[in-house]
Amino acid sequence: MSVPPPPPDERELADTIPGAVSHDVYAGGWRAGETPPGGLPPLSPPPPTRPSAWNAPAFGMLAIFLLALGALLWPQYRARAVENKIQPVVAGLSQRDTSARCPRYITAIFTNVGSVSLDASGNPGDRTDLTGPICDALRHLYTDEGRAELQCLVTDGRCPESARRSIVALSVVAHESMHLRGILDEAAAECSAIAEGPRTAKLAGLTPEQGRMIGYLHLMALNPNTPDEYAVSPGNCRAARELTDNPPGTEAQRGLLVMLTEQTWTTLGE
Ligand SMILES: [Zn+2]
Repeated sequence: MSVPPPPPDERELADTIPGAVSHDVYAGGWRAGETPPGGLPPLSPPPPTRPSAWNAPAFGMLAIFLLALGALLWPQYRARAVENKIQPVVAGLSQRDTSARCPRYITAIFTNVGSVSLDASGNPGDRTDLTGPICDALRHLYTDEGRAELQCLVTDGRCPESARRSIVALSVVAHESMHLRGILDEAAAECSAIAEGPRTAKLAGLTPEQGRMIGYLHLMALNPNTPDEYAVSPGNCRAARELTDNPPGTEAQRGLLVMLTEQTWTTLGE
């Protein structure tokens, strides 16, 4: 019977490989900084973790980027919101698929209140460009507060400035919508816009009585403060004749409203 060779000594085996880790090392029993059994070098403190890319300067850059993006997108969002609100009024008055555009950036400083471009053949485009103050007034009109304020048209006539701006803005929208309808002559557009006061009001969610007063104010407060080619009178405009013969509201209410609206119009039209 032959004797099997003795199993290799584990300790010897480990030690025969230079640098090999012996079982003793794994068994512990020594502290960091000491030379462990087996001659391994002392443990050093753990290396610092890799710095994150999301440090303070990166967050600063991200914040600046988001602010810039917001500054770019916010005027777009704001303009689109009011354009969507007024679009049915413009389309309804012009009797075709038209819209209004509010300024986004620098165009807000233009001074005229609204315009419609004509193509090479003299036909009006499909949209009217409104100015910043007119769009602001329309934005206010479509708030609960703005709507409630316009009760002044049919009560005591003490309309606050914000309500008068809404009244003027609706008259401007009505005038430009007549151009979009194809009425290019300024006086004819004024006359039709005045006649369409009740329809303008209805499309904007107001009552026919409020609309009649808006038409009256267009005739008495806005139109006298426009260039000659815009001038309407009972002689050249049936709506002007009807509103003069049978005006809405009381005399005191009309007097106050005409005076106040004229002030607002001349300020806005400057
Ligand atoms: Zn015009």
